[in-house]
Amino acid sequence: MQVSSPECSPGCALSALLWDVDGTLAETEQGGHRLAFNRAMTDAGLSWQWDETTYRQLLTVSGGRERLAHDLERREGRPPEPSRLDDLVTRKQGHYHALVEAGELQLRPGVRRLMAAAAAAGLRQGIVTTSGRDSVQALAEQLLGTLAGALSFWICGEDVQGKKPDPEAYRLALAQLGSDGHGVLAIEDSLNGLGAARAAGLRCLITLGIDSAALPIARFAAATGVVDGLGDPGRPAAVRRGPACRQGLITLSWLEQLMSMP
Ligand SMILES: [Mg+2]
Repeated sequence: MQVSSPECSPGCALSALLWDVDGTLAETEQGGHRLAFNRAMTDAGLSWQWDETTYRQLLTVSGGRERLAHDLERREGRPPEPSRLDDLVTRKQGHYHALVEAGELQLRPGVRRLMAAAAAAGLRQGIVTTSGRDSVQALAEQLLGTLAGALSFWICGEDVQGKKPDPEAYRLALAQLGSDGHGVLAIEDSLNGLGAARAAGLRCLITLGIDSAALPIARFAAATGVVDGLGDPGRPAAVRRGPACRQGLITLSWLEQLMSMP
């Protein structure tokens, strides 16, 4: 294994990166999805809003539609009518698109740098999310631009029966790669994402975000590595668990070291 080169050398331990979207590519949850849900609830005349703490608790429910249904049932004592849920979700998607198009969301530090480096090195890359394709595509077009071409497949919520932490999305990704998981690294920010990746037999790097950073680091014991971001020049990342990273930049060579850890 070569650890000094930023390129992934032939025979290296790293062959593919699988990217989660929400919280991993961008801090979409609090500044995007939460605000969009709140605006949809205002449209529908509901009397409450989700503050950051409430929404952080609701993030244990994967999928926006499921999250909304869970909260409505908790507040009202019965499951919401599907047509009402449809209306709220449609309104929410419209508000989310507007936030994305207004430039309210940005890639997290290091995402563009690492994705471009992986593409240049010939690694295969894909999106593995259980969020809706509509929201994912809007975000990717706005934030990634032509770099979205580096992603050879997109597993989204519509492709699976079970949302994360169910491993179905990752198993579909492995089928796309034609891989048993060797050399494949999932990049996630949440416990649900970590659970999905591990249940599919994959190694997983956790990039703690504004929601997951509030959790005890011990909750991420199943992760191969834990960092507080991927880092960019001038915005260094800190490694919470994994190989030392003196410059604060998560590079392909650092990922190779991570993949070789027992
Ligand atoms: Mg996530």
